[in-house]
Formats: sequence, C-alpha cells, structure tokens
Amino acid sequence: MTHEIAVIPGDGIGQEVTPAAVDVLEQLPVDFEFVYGEAGDAVLEDRGEALPEETREIAADADATLFGAAGETAADVILPLRSVVNSFANVRPARAYPGLDAVQPDTDLVFIRENTEGVYAGIESEITDGVTTCTRVITEEASRDIAEFGFEYATENGFEDVTIAHKANVMRTTDGLFLDVAQQVGDERGADYDTALMDALAMHLIQRPEDYGVVICPNLAGDMLSDLAAGLVGGLGLLPSANIGPDNALFEPVHGSAPDIAGEGVANPAAMILSAAMLLDHLGYGEEGDRVREAVEGVLDEGPRTPDLGGDASTEDVTDAIIDRL
Ligand code: ATP
Repeated sequence: MTHEIAVIPGDGIGQEVTPAAVDVLEQLPVDFEFVYGEAGDAVLEDRGEALPEETREIAADADATLFGAAGETAADVILPLRSVVNSFANVRPARAYPGLDAVQPDTDLVFIRENTEGVYAGIESEITDGVTTCTRVITEEASRDIAEFGFEYATENGFEDVTIAHKANVMRTTDGLFLDVAQQVGDERGADYDTALMDALAMHLIQRPEDYGVVICPNLAGDMLSDLAAGLVGGLGLLPSANIGPDNALFEPVHGSAPDIAGEGVANPAAMILSAAMLLDHLGYGEEGDRVREAVEGVLDEGPRTPDLGGDASTEDVTDAIIDRL
C-alpha cells in the first residue's frame, strides 16, 4: 500500500531539516509517495499568499503531512494547515536523551493538548476603548475527544501515569466541564489517573518529572506546560510534535524557522526526524518508528552532534549517521 505524504518544508531551517526527514523515511521498507507543497514567507513574497490553495489541497488529500517551519507568516500557515487536517489533538513528547545535558534526565512526558478551543478559539473583542475580552470555549464533545485520545495513547504507549491538568477551582464552569468529562472517560475505561491544578503542576513537573507520564490538557495549558517541559530536556532542536485529526494528521518539529542559523547547514534535524517517527507510528508502522527513534537516540548519545548540542557536525553529517544506524 502506498502512503501519500504531503511535504511542506516552509521557511528557514525547515528547508534543511525536512529533506533530512524524507531521506530517513526513504530508507524504510514502507511505500511512500511524497508530494511537495509550498508555504511561508518566501511564497508570500512571490505569490502574494503564504498558504496557496494548492498546498491546502495537497495536505487535505494526503494520508499525512510533514511540515518544517514558517517564519513571520507562521500564524497564517500553520493554524490553517492544522485545521485542514481537522486536528483536535496535539501530541507533544518531551523526553530526556542519554548523553545530553538535561535539567531533569528522568523526564519522559507526553502532553496531549486539546487543539481546537479554550482561549485559542479566537473569540476576542474590544468592548470599549481600553476594555477587551476573550471568550474561553470548552465543549463536552471536544473534552471527551481529547480525553479518549489521551487515555488511549497512554495505554498504547505503555504509560502508567495519566494526569488531567485543569484549573476548575477558578474556571468552575469551563474547566469544571473539562475535568468532569475527562474523569468520566477515565472512569469508563477503568483507568488509573490523577488530576492536578495546572499551576501547581508546572512546579511539580520541574521538581519531579519522573512522577508524570501522559498529561491531558486544555489548549493554553498544554501549550505552556509542554514548552516548560522542553526546557527540562535540553532544547528546541529535539522536540517533535503531531497534530492528529480523525482522518489525517500533520507532523512538525516544535521549533520554528530559526532565521539566525538558516542556510548554514547546521540545524539539528533530530526534532524533524522524530516527528517523522511519529508519522510512522500514526500510519501503523510502530516498529519502524521505534527503529528511527533508536537511531536518533544513538546519534544523540554518541555523536556526531550539531552546534546547538555542543558539536560541530552539519545537518547532513547527523542525518547520514542516523541513516547508517538504521
Ligand atoms: P520563528 O520566528 O520561526 O519561530 P525563532 O528564531 O523565533 O523563529 P526558533 O526557530 O524556534 O524560533 O528558534 C529559537 C532558537 O533556537 C534559535 O536561536 C534557533 O537557532 C534555535 N533552534 C531552533 N531549532 C533549532 C534546530 N533544529 N537546530 C539548532 N538550533 C535550533
């Protein structure tokens, strides 16, 4: 069976790390057809729009999308792309790797973030001069979807600890609903879980990340807590993510276009290649996904390493070393 993969490298180091991930996927015994789409700052300049209709269509029609990064136009590119694939779940693993300087070497967390509502629903207004509001949307349906996804993810990936993050003591109606529904889902599944106030959780994640596994979060909390966890494991060049929808999904590194190093050939390809490993898992190739992760881990541990990790290797050197291990 051939899987059609939309490849959208975008701007800056997206142009360098996305081909690295495609090179890695091409080594595997899986039949892929890669279809390329353009998006980002350079396309806006050339064609007057950051996300041309044909790129949307390529992403909508593909079995999965690999996206690199967008620069100034990020909001005009990635938000619509995530909605093209109807992604309700944002999966953000934050894991410390052997051999690298992590603040907390025992970190192995996965944030399952609701990706469609909360304060990111985009309902803001200026009521009068100097007075603005933002409407926080929490629905039973979206809360149920993300909780089901989070508990299922924990089971499938062997995580024992599931935590539901919330702030229902203050946002009683909205997070009250999120918490009730997520607990109902956990109870229906006979799962063990904890609940945690998101502010206290931020502190505990820093002090004792080893006590946590899968963390199910409303939208903004998931965004912030997962970035906080990124700081525990040694930086942006290492963090992959997935945006999962019912029939389609998009995989991207957490980092952006890194204009400060773009074009130098020294970007760390690990986050993008680990995103490709998540794509493999999603398409049912968990064994191949594990092989890719093991190869990346081996290279992170023993080198070569790019300058962000203290080495002097290029993107290509690191990609070749990962391919050699595969
Ligand atoms: P953007 O506006 O596109 O988000 P940015 O520079 O604000 O770009 P990032 O691209 O995430 O944000 O980069 C933040 C810092 O991390 C930069 O110094 C960048 O060089 C570094 N960085 C990000 N990703 C990588 C990577 N894959 N390899 C090496 N360094 C990286």
